[in-house]
Formats: sequence, C-alpha cells, structure tokens
Amino acid sequence: MKRIAVLGSGTAGLHLSYALVNSGAFQVTVYTDRTPEEVKRGRVSSTQVHFGPARAREAAYGMPLWEAGPELESIHVTVGGQKLFTGGLVHPAKSVDQRAYFFRCMKDLEAKGVSFVYGRVDEERLQELARAYDLIVDCSGKRGPIAPFPQIGELSPVTTPQRKCSAGYFHGVVPLEPAGVSITILPGAGELFEIPALTALGPVTILFIESVPGGPLDVFGGIKDPESFRDRMRAVVDRHFPAVAARVDGEHFGLCDERGFVQIAVQPAVHRPYCTVGGTLVLGCGDSVVLNDPITGQGCNTASYCAEQLVRTLTEEPVGPWDERTGEAYWKRIRDYVTEVTQWSNAMMGPLPDHAVGRLMAAAADPAAADRIAGWFADPATAYEDLFRSAAGTKEQAERQGGL
Ligand SMILES: Cc1cc2nc3c(=O)[nH]c(=O)nc-3n(C[C@H](O)[C@H](O)[C@H](O)COP(=O)(O)OP(=O)(O)OC[C@H]3O[C@@H](n4cnc5c(N)ncnc54)[C@H](O)[C@@H]3O)c2cc1C
Repeated sequence: MKRIAVLGSGTAGLHLSYALVNSGAFQVTVYTDRTPEEVKRGRVSSTQVHFGPARAREAAYGMPLWEAGPELESIHVTVGGQKLFTGGLVHPAKSVDQRAYFFRCMKDLEAKGVSFVYGRVDEERLQELARAYDLIVDCSGKRGPIAPFPQIGELSPVTTPQRKCSAGYFHGVVPLEPAGVSITILPGAGELFEIPALTALGPVTILFIESVPGGPLDVFGGIKDPESFRDRMRAVVDRHFPAVAARVDGEHFGLCDERGFVQIAVQPAVHRPYCTVGGTLVLGCGDSVVLNDPITGQGCNTASYCAEQLVRTLTEEPVGPWDERTGEAYWKRIRDYVTEVTQWSNAMMGPLPDHAVGRLMAAAADPAAADRIAGWFADPATAYEDLFRSAAGTKEQAERQGGL
C-alpha cells in the first residue's frame, strides 16, 4: 500500500484523510501541531459555513454529521439600511464550531486506522518525511505552506490584507427567519455577517465584521480580552447595524466562552499546488495553497472540493509513479474552481461593479434572481459566470452593436 503523509488536521487535512481512508488504497499518517484536546480547548478561528456540496461529501465519507444545530436555508442580503432580498439555498448549509468538529473527526479517524503524529513540521522535517513517504500533502493552512510551492501572480493580485476580520460567537441574538446567513454590506466600510452556528455548548449566533482598514468599522484594534470584544461588538452593531441591534437581547448578550472570538487579517495568495522535495511529490490542499479573504465564506468549501479532486487524481489517473505529472493532473482538475472562487472573493472586496449592483437590485424584485445569488455560495462557478462571464458577454455584445 502506498504511504501518504498529510500535514495538518484542519478542514483540508481531515476531509482529505477521510477521502483517502474511504478509498481503501492508502496508508495515511497525519502530522499536525495540535492534539485533539488542544484544538477543543483552543480559540475559534473561522465561521466555517459548509454549503451543500461540502456537506454531501461529509455524508458520503461517513464523517460525523451534526444532526442538531441550525440548518441554514437562506442568504439574507442588506445593502446600507435597505434589506434587498432573501434567497433560498437548495441544500441547507451548516456551521459547526471547528473546535468540536475537528476534535471529533480526529478521534474518529484514529479509530479508523489513521495514525497521528503531533509536533510542528518545518522544512527540515519535510525533507525527512519526503524520504519516508510516497506522497506528502501540505494542508498546513494559512500558516503554511511548508513546501516551496511557487506563488501564482495573476491569482494573488493584492499585497496587503483588504479587510480586518473580527468574529465572535454570541448568545443573546434573536435569530432571523428563515434561518440563514445574513449579510449586511456598508459600501466603503465593510460587511457584517450574522451566522447561526452550533458549538459544544449549544447554539450561538456568530457576528463577523469584515472592516475596510482605516474605515469606520475598523475599531477592534488592540482588543485582547473577551469582555472588551463583546462590548466593542455591541457598540459597532448599535451604531452601524440597527436592524441587527434590534434583535440583540442586552441582558443575555455575551460570548459563548472566553476563547469564542478571533481577530485576523488575511493576505490572499494562491500557489501552484505541487512541487517535489528530494524527488518526492508534494501536493497542497486548502489555505496552504488557496488562501482567500473569508468574505465569500469559501475556504472550507474549497478545501473540501480540492481534497476530493486530489483523491480522484490519485485513484483515477493512469497508474504510474507519482511525480510532477500527477501534480499537474491535480492542478488541472481544480484550476477552474480555484480561479472562480479567488476572482469572486477578490472582486467582493473592491467597489462592486455596476452590473453586480444591478444583479443585487434586480434580486430585490425577483425571487428567482435572489435564489440564483444564494446559489453562488454553494456553486462558485455560478458567481463567476454572473459576475465575470455574463458581464464580459454583455460588454462584448454592446461593443459589437456599437460597431455596427
Ligand atoms: C474569520 C474567518 C471566517 C471564515 N468563515 C468561513 C466560512 O464561513 N466558510 C468557509 O468555507 N470558510 C471560512 N473561512 C475560511 C476557512 O476557515 C479556511 O479556509 C479553512 O479553515 C482552511 O482549512 P485548512 O485545513 O486549509 O487550514 P486550517 O484549518 O488552518 O488547518 C491547518 C492545520 O495545519 C496545522 N499546522 C499548521 N502549520 C503546521 C506546521 N508547521 N506543522 C504541523 N501542523 C501545522 C494546524 O494546526 C491545523 O491543524 C473563514 C476564515 C476566517 C479567518
């Protein structure tokens, strides 16, 4: 049996390990720097909405399925103070606190025969592992990559983070109906995402601010303790998001636990997801190679998609030694998806182009258009189609007509 080392046990490492184990064809060892107990006791790091396709993979792989917790059936969109529409998701999404999710998956994988080795992997350790394994997959997330994958300039257009992320898991927010992800866009200032989620301590509402650096929502700097974070979030919501503030129950408003908040700024970057180390093929999966700002909530979903395609590459491509051709075959399978997600995510951080604003406004009066926009989150190819291909087609058409 071929031996595969997976570096990291976040969404990418876990979805990949399940897919590899399920194929029955590989011996899998996960090298990761946090034990399940450390993950469980740690800080939140995401809002982790998994849309329909990622959830379908979880079911197909036999991953733990959280029956409890809110099923997210819709996407609510508000621009400025105006609620524009609620679009329906064909398959409900779900957000389960990664601390509970990762803990349970790691334990379950161990029971299924996957070995876990705890400790940090650096370049030297990578060289050693390359001598011992047939393939390494770098799933080290945004702290990675560990392997020297080349960065792709045209998919990494910005050189500084375009947003500052401040997210907390709160009690005391009355959920919107129908249950779903609520997005409020304040043009020029940033966005508030409201996400019903499940934690080990029960249901919560995640309030997640994406602030334009230096703008009016960029007010979380220097906050380290949970009480100050709660108070600052309350003040921001009261001042800038009155429709959400109206649903905050002041008496019960608070973080679900003292590590239930995160502050981070993501510098998006995309790397070609294959290279060799000491002659051994190393592939990349997840944020280590496709790191986007979370504005479109796609990182876990992309990691899950790429993990599936990686295993398909290993099992469906012609049998032969694993080498750069295998890497190229994997990249060929995921390139379109990665491009669509990346361009959509980067576009959402700039001023929205007129045709995108037009689509949002049209959705206010047309439920089918609203559902189509909700569908972008489950199938980023449709977002790309609507925001880039259709727009280019319309421009070309106008130019052709103008030229006649
Ligand atoms: C605020 C915020 C909100 C988000 N919301 C969403 C959302 O709603 N939906 C969505 O799909 N995505 C969302 N994302 C993005 C999503 O969280 C990430 O894309 C996803 O978790 C990436 O998974 P990963 O496995 O690649 O990385 P990670 O989950 O970061 O896992 C990396 C793993 O590698 C380990 N590791 C790192 N370095 C080393 C090393 N040197 N040696 C050994 N182990 C190492 C880590 O301990 C960890 O186990 C959000 C991100 C942020 C910041």
